[in-house]
Amino acid sequence: MDLTYKRTNVYAAADAAETDAIMAYAEGYKRFLDSSKTEREAVSTAVKLLEAKGYKPYALGDKISKGDKLYLNNRGKSLFILRAGKADIAKNGVRILVAHVDSPRLDLKQVPLYEKANIAYFKTHYYGGIKKYHWLTIPLALHGVVVLKSGKKVEIAIGEKDSDPVFYITDLLPHLSQELNNAKIGDGFSAENLNLVVGGIPVKGEEKDAVKKNVLALLNAEYGIEEEDFLSAELEAVPAAKARDVGFDRAYIASYGHDDRVCAYPEITATVDADTNETVLTILADKEEIGSVGNTGMQCILIRDILDAIAKNYGVDPAVLRQSSKCVSADVTAGFDPAYASAFEEMNVSLVHHGVAMSKFTGRGGKSGSNDASAEYVGYLRKVFKDAGVIWQTGELGRVDLGGGGTVALFIANNNIDTVDLGVPVLSMHSPDELVSKADVYSAYKAFKAFAE
Ligand code: MN
Ligand code: MN
Repeated sequence: MDLTYKRTNVYAAADAAETDAIMAYAEGYKRFLDSSKTEREAVSTAVKLLEAKGYKPYALGDKISKGDKLYLNNRGKSLFILRAGKADIAKNGVRILVAHVDSPRLDLKQVPLYEKANIAYFKTHYYGGIKKYHWLTIPLALHGVVVLKSGKKVEIAIGEKDSDPVFYITDLLPHLSQELNNAKIGDGFSAENLNLVVGGIPVKGEEKDAVKKNVLALLNAEYGIEEEDFLSAELEAVPAAKARDVGFDRAYIASYGHDDRVCAYPEITATVDADTNETVLTILADKEEIGSVGNTGMQCILIRDILDAIAKNYGVDPAVLRQSSKCVSADVTAGFDPAYASAFEEMNVSLVHHGVAMSKFTGRGGKSGSNDASAEYVGYLRKVFKDAGVIWQTGELGRVDLGGGGTVALFIANNNIDTVDLGVPVLSMHSPDELVSKADVYSAYKAFKAFAE
């Protein structure tokens, strides 16, 4: 008997039918990625998918009946999907799946437009953890909303169609980079230099800010925007590229925003597809990348309000419901990258192609800021996955004391709910074009489905 722990390569273990299923599933995921570049777009794409499957809008105060399939759209930026099951929720609780749909990006400042040396620019303020140099010299698209002075909301998405213009941040040529090359990489690129080129043609006969004025005229003609309207706008610059297969064998998908759509999409599809009597609450959260704050982040008490509403409609004590509930906090982790091997501890880091990865704890330093799941709960999930034939692995983010990261797990656990992190290993995480294995995406879907069932 072999008593050692070994990871299993999903591709190596898959028969022809399983390999086909992995590849077919990736096609749906890529469509989701390309139509969901921002948290708002991910929510609206998910709502369309849910409505096609018969899910109905729900608002706090509405009646919930056993068998209902509902969704609560929270301000267009976060989404709560509820399958009200027939099982005893006092005993079984609610199966909660959470992923986030915000990703690192460049937000426009509230007074963004200026002109210098006959070039018009938008100023940006980065959102989430980025390496600033990643965002130079790549095509960027602009997505978001502007609320005009009339109160009318204008939706904007420019740069995704082949015929659209894109936006662009310049870099210094290598010929003149002697000083820059000697700077520390963190000091070499300033946030205040992350300015998008947005125009170059002047209004004829105009002396001052002629290019800026032309950009404003174009925005006004197309959208009715005046400069002051940016005060009430949320515009996000994101990579204009589409999700693409990577490798001769198409083993990977490169895309912006795998963190955390690569967990959000498997969550949605697993929830819809699950053959279950359990009550399932699936959440697409906003603001994870900046601390899960605000009324669309997971620190908001809305989750508590929804659990209370379920308890009330089922005639169950809400405290008992919470205590019986279980949560999978679905967020990505770092896959082992041999090019940067020293950043990882090879025995405990997750490996691409080896399935969805469970992080018993996250945090930094001595597990600080982490939800450290109990051995009992991890043991429970081991059995669920074994019974369902899910290939999964353990995964610690990186070498101890090198850095760290957190997820929404602790905010769910604070409600007296057993919670653990489970997500897809990512290479080049938080870059404009992240890399995942299709095998791991499909493994996440199977794991979330097994959990919901
Ligand atoms: Mn994440
Ligand atoms: Mn992240």
